[in-house]
Amino acid sequence: MKYNEINSLSFLLDKNHYLYKHTEDEQSIHLYVKSRPHSSICPICGEESKQLHATYDRVLQDTPIHMKQTFLHVKAYKFECPNSNCKCKVFMEDLPFAKPSQVRTDALTSLILGVSMYLSNEGASKVLSLLGVQVSNDTIKRIYDRIEFIDNPDVEAVGIDDVAIRKGHKYATAIYDLKDHHLIALLEGRDGETLKEWLRKHTKIRLVTRDRASAYASAINEILPECIQVADRFHLLQNLLDKLKEIFKAEIPSEIFIENGKVLDKAPKKIWCENDLDEEQFNQLHYDNTTPASLDGTEIFFDNKKRNLDSVQYKAHAESRKKNKN
Ligand SMILES: [Zn+2]
Repeated sequence: MKYNEINSLSFLLDKNHYLYKHTEDEQSIHLYVKSRPHSSICPICGEESKQLHATYDRVLQDTPIHMKQTFLHVKAYKFECPNSNCKCKVFMEDLPFAKPSQVRTDALTSLILGVSMYLSNEGASKVLSLLGVQVSNDTIKRIYDRIEFIDNPDVEAVGIDDVAIRKGHKYATAIYDLKDHHLIALLEGRDGETLKEWLRKHTKIRLVTRDRASAYASAINEILPECIQVADRFHLLQNLLDKLKEIFKAEIPSEIFIENGKVLDKAPKKIWCENDLDEEQFNQLHYDNTTPASLDGTEIFFDNKKRNLDSVQYKAHAESRKKNKN
């Protein structure tokens, strides 16, 4: 049988694999993948083999296309190990999109984990089925159970941060390897106690990036006093912004005076404008100063102590206004 590569879809796979057929029905899409002759590494002895032994078929569920369940039908290679001392005679090639013996692609597993992170397993299973992924809640649980954090007692540089396991309720301390940022430990609480215990077993650590919480700082100071502590980028930025705010508060006055586009050093002198008034124009303004009256003509008693023109206080103010004016 001849396999004709669909060149327009070559971007979907790596250079060692190609698509040669696709079919579609009401519920599902099927993509047919073939392995090109290439070399592969023996998983036991690590020697490279170009010796093809046979092909085998694998069917994997992939991320859905247009909400339809999507399958990869893969014709993959088995290789013969060239190392005569190796106990492995025949091995299967590594697929770039799935782990050995998996029935799902890595991309689909990531999608399942991503959706189920915010839902119950049962809820996630239902939502995923609407999206075109068939996965039972038991399988979701199994995928979760397989996640493990592999601690490394020889790690030399780590990042430490607090994370909420249940929004705003239960907190944990996440420790990740600074080399590639993968999680190596998830400790209970964020008060630094569990961190101290963990640090005692990881004495090779020379560098820690952490948040600004003092609990972590004091735990590190206590157990590994020689260790360099770095505020991570996010918290460094936060520190910088806090500092800038302080500076702005101290340096920038509450009022800024600008005249003709220039900032003045101090408040400008107030100018009395009355003399500039056009007398004629002013007299045209009609100002009714009569006592307010109701419709039947009775005067409305208007009591405003603040405007008592005969008060001592008001008279004093009027005097001082006159003085300022001259
Ligand atoms: Zn081998």
